[in-house]
Amino acid sequence: MKNIYSNIIKFNSKNLIKIINILKKDGIIGLPTETVYGLAGNAYSNIAIKKIFKVKKRLKKNPLIVHYYNLSRAKKDVLLDVKFNKIYKKFSPGPITYIVKKKNNSKIKPLACGNLKTVGIRFPKNKIIRTLLKKLEFPLAMPSANKSSGVSPVKPLDVFEEFNNKIKVVDGGISKIGIESTVLNLVGKICILRPGIITPKQIENVLKTKLKILTNQTILKSPGLLKKHYSPGIPMYLNKKKCPDKYAFITFGKKYPVTRNSFNLSRKSNLNEAAKNLYKFFRSIKKRGYKKIYVSKIPNTGVGIAINDRLKRASK
Ligand code: AMP
Ligand code: MG
Repeated sequence: MKNIYSNIIKFNSKNLIKIINILKKDGIIGLPTETVYGLAGNAYSNIAIKKIFKVKKRLKKNPLIVHYYNLSRAKKDVLLDVKFNKIYKKFSPGPITYIVKKKNNSKIKPLACGNLKTVGIRFPKNKIIRTLLKKLEFPLAMPSANKSSGVSPVKPLDVFEEFNNKIKVVDGGISKIGIESTVLNLVGKICILRPGIITPKQIENVLKTKLKILTNQTILKSPGLLKKHYSPGIPMYLNKKKCPDKYAFITFGKKYPVTRNSFNLSRKSNLNEAAKNLYKFFRSIKKRGYKKIYVSKIPNTGVGIAINDRLKRASK
């Protein structure tokens, strides 16, 4: 009998050739990054990009992030300026996506960018994805490896549960960060389109200007801005002090008692730890059959801004 988990594959030299072949032949595959697991395909191939949209059931107008190995490769497709260079030097490779202008002769397929003149680019840090990107002659379009509007996967089994045996996924263990990249718009007025582990303050310190975080629905530039997103699929209620025993209670900090239904994001009140636990808790709460989730107040500073952003959208 076929092992049902045989679609979760180890990253070794034999599989490396297999993975490269899948991608070269316009196939798609689940890959680890330092943020969450992505669903990767050749950004220069319409066939691959179509597959990504189809499998994820993602709206066509929602652009994908294109992942590069390094700057010189990205420069073939996009226009980069001084401000970009400053931030890039500080934060890349890493968990940050830059919205920049596409070159006229860019090879990135318009479908990958929702037909916009701009594109989101990222230089991920995770060793597995970097090894692959180095070997490939094209960048990878890669949204999170989950069905649209759902919870991003943070381990190979999460990806398997999203797509079953439709998609192979490379085992890179548990995602280090656990929430999606910060998305920084560098076209026109600089602003944050999606908060992440790299905080507004950190970027402001480099750019020496105050940054807006766009939460406005009218600027539907980013699907991260869609009201409902990151949803565990059961009702969620925020800023709760207490929770009935029959519901799951997501808490933060040591003042909350340890109970059977409590899921403490970080007893030490560490926001990075909380980010890493967030989606893991969403999935395990759902699996344990809870019908509702209550969430305590989470500080809205630093990484807390990103956590609250996800909680707000998940609770819509
Ligand atoms: P996901 O692929 O699910 O991590 O989401 C991709 C994120 O990158 C979304 O918030 C997108 O809107 C954002 N993004 C990618 N390309 C662009 C673009 N050209 N303009 C604005 N946002 C973009
Ligand atoms: Mg996503």
